[in-house]
Amino acid sequence: MSGFHRRQILRAGVTALADFVFGRPLTLPAQAETRRGIFDAHLHIPSDNGENFQWSLVTRNMQEFVAYLDKCGVKRGVISSSWSNKAQTPDDYRQGNREVAKYVDRYKGRFRGSCVITPFRIDDALREIEHCHQEYGFVWLGEFCNYMTGYRYDTPEWAEVMKLAARLKLVIQIHTNVREMEHLAEKFPEATIVFPHLGGNRDDIFKRIDIVARHKNTHIELSGSGIERVGILEKAVKEIGADRVLYGSDFTINEPSAVIARVKNAFLTAEDREKILFRNVERLLARAGAGPRP
Ligand SMILES: [Zn+2]
Repeated sequence: MSGFHRRQILRAGVTALADFVFGRPLTLPAQAETRRGIFDAHLHIPSDNGENFQWSLVTRNMQEFVAYLDKCGVKRGVISSSWSNKAQTPDDYRQGNREVAKYVDRYKGRFRGSCVITPFRIDDALREIEHCHQEYGFVWLGEFCNYMTGYRYDTPEWAEVMKLAARLKLVIQIHTNVREMEHLAEKFPEATIVFPHLGGNRDDIFKRIDIVARHKNTHIELSGSGIERVGILEKAVKEIGADRVLYGSDFTINEPSAVIARVKNAFLTAEDREKILFRNVERLLARAGAGPRP
């Protein structure tokens, strides 16, 4: 028997054993996901006005931000401005969104821009969303964080934002607690929603996975708490399906490679890992009308 045949038999034996243990074929850590480029659905850039979500600064400007992503193997991403998230006036979020457009342009092909507004002056906010879509080609909104400036997701103004996102077929990424998540998923089935974060405790994590599983227009994104609990990613994929689970890091706050490590080590097929690390976000962007780049 040749060495080649011995290796084939050995491999077949390993796969059969894995079938028995895990109920599915063993999948070795695949390198395929890095060939196309890991796509981070959740990045906050350091703003030109000094606003930076990082708790103790080590990546202070765009150059250092990009160098760190390189170190982590994150090749592409959706970026939004912390200036826009902290906006006290419409002018603040306009400046933030324009710096996003500037960096999308400067790092050609690497980033997709996202528009962030606050809903206090709703006419200005809706105009800004349309402007970012038409002028800069943004097809992503958020991450919206209502706690930062103190607004709610159950108001007529926020409903206007959701309806515009649905009408323009934009992806809308919203930081929520469980109650807010349930409300948005129920009330806006026509919107394409990405909910960042699995959750801070076991009860919340299980509820959040269940909400996304029940609402086909929604997606869970893996940044923040929850992903570090071994088995939770596998549970999310099992209940939601791999098509609606997205890789995101929340960098500059959190470590991009920590989430990647869990995705790579998880008991998932190579195909599922690819979906999570880049294919799903590529599909969402394409469906929202983004061109082929990045
Ligand atoms: Zn975030």
